[in-house]
Amino acid sequence: MTQTAKFDPETLRSAMDGPVFGPDDAGYDRARTIWNGDIDRHPAVIAQCVSPDDVAAALAFGRDNALEISVRGGGHSYSGTSVGEDGLMINLSAMKGVAVDPEAGQALVGGGATMADMDAATQSYGLAVTGGVISDTGVGGLTLGGGMGWLTRMAGLAIDNLVSAQVVLADGRIVRASETENPELFWALRGGGGNFGVVTEFEYRLHPVGPEVHLGLFFWAAAEGTDALRLIREFIPTLPRRSGALIAAAMSAPPAPFVPEHYHFVPGYALIVAGFGSAEEHAAAVAPIRDALAPLFEFITPIPYAGLQQMLDTAAPRGMHGYEKALDLDDFSNEVIAVLTENAGQKTSPLSFMPIFPLNGAFSTVGEDDTAFGGARTAHYGCNITAMTPDAETLTLDRAWVRTTWEALRPLASNPAGYVNFMADADYDRVRESYGSTKYAKLARIKADYDPGNVFHRNANIKPG
Ligand code: FAD
Repeated sequence: MTQTAKFDPETLRSAMDGPVFGPDDAGYDRARTIWNGDIDRHPAVIAQCVSPDDVAAALAFGRDNALEISVRGGGHSYSGTSVGEDGLMINLSAMKGVAVDPEAGQALVGGGATMADMDAATQSYGLAVTGGVISDTGVGGLTLGGGMGWLTRMAGLAIDNLVSAQVVLADGRIVRASETENPELFWALRGGGGNFGVVTEFEYRLHPVGPEVHLGLFFWAAAEGTDALRLIREFIPTLPRRSGALIAAAMSAPPAPFVPEHYHFVPGYALIVAGFGSAEEHAAAVAPIRDALAPLFEFITPIPYAGLQQMLDTAAPRGMHGYEKALDLDDFSNEVIAVLTENAGQKTSPLSFMPIFPLNGAFSTVGEDDTAFGGARTAHYGCNITAMTPDAETLTLDRAWVRTTWEALRPLASNPAGYVNFMADADYDRVRESYGSTKYAKLARIKADYDPGNVFHRNANIKPG
């Protein structure tokens, strides 16, 4: 659906409180630019919305002028669906207010807020909700796909903590979705991505976290990959619920102050454990790792929760050329470990790696059908294979590495499509495979109720059915 008709942006300007940018306006480039430097698209017009009414006005303008709609939250996806060529971008990045109600333990968060915006506000009260591990990721796209991070084992996914959402529907109606208002829409928003409307406000349930938490980072050399992954396989199920973990396979040691200089960029495997209980509980939890297989280096320290949330930001700077594919693994079987270790050494960029999220604890106490999340709720690993490079040429090499590794792991995967938020190419078959046919059919039916014309199709698209 490419825009061909002429249109007058003044009509949109006069209908909105927020600014409207055309290609010649100052602010246009900033508003269209997203995290993935490999994606350089030029919308015909950008509506920088400041209210749900602005969003409704932009949608009406898009409809009247047959413009393809894209919705930008934090602009932090590999897929780049939030920016299109020629169409109308609804940019939510100015809608980033966060209002915390510490008595109720809840927060209202603007649809364009980033994790950093949300964490800064909630941490003032020693509260937090599950979010991603890079702080400039938008809460919008992250939550609508599921939302996994350090708190997943303790508090479930972001969607498991969603109380309600304010949504601007394709026809311009502004509605609230919760367990009691528009419950089917509320179900679909919790995992169904940006398919059902523009979420202008998320209401979350918060948990007491920090402000000081505990970090344990362990790094093993590439040659010890098999032993390290076998150790991690035994260790993860022993972790107390009040801890989070991330496994980084095919990682190059960062040039960080806590890494001895002679290990900078050395390839290997990392296990990062975040403890949300006492220092003693954390020390006891990580002791078995240190005893079982001496790491090349380790870093065990108290850290502010907000610092933990920003700790990996330098590993994924804006403007990198990125590509990713993911799949779900039931376990690190010996076969899986063999594929991971065989492929780990084949990447080119030091920033390319395989972040693997242990999904268990509170995550698996939620019923399979309670939310629209794509993927099982039984304990498993969300395995992401990520290419991240400073230039397009190196991306060509590491994109091939991602695809080869994914193909090799695919026969061993419990869900070869993986998490919808980790799909750089979200084609119909993979989206359907991620949800499974029953859940996809329900999503398609709800899509037909709320967006029969598939206005919101620049996403991991669910076709109205
Ligand atoms: P955008 O590019 O702005 O949006 C992506 C899509 O989401 C849009 O096309 C639109 O369909 C939809 N969307 C966004 N906001 C709204 C809204 N308010 N209303 C309606 N639709 C909306 N995911 C995790 O779960 N955990 C992680 O730890 C994690 N780490 C990541 C690290 C990196 C470096 C990157 C690039 C991604 C990571 N992700 C992670 C994936 C991330 O959750 C998704 O890419 C998500 O879509 C980003 O949301 P965004 O709002 O920033 O993206």
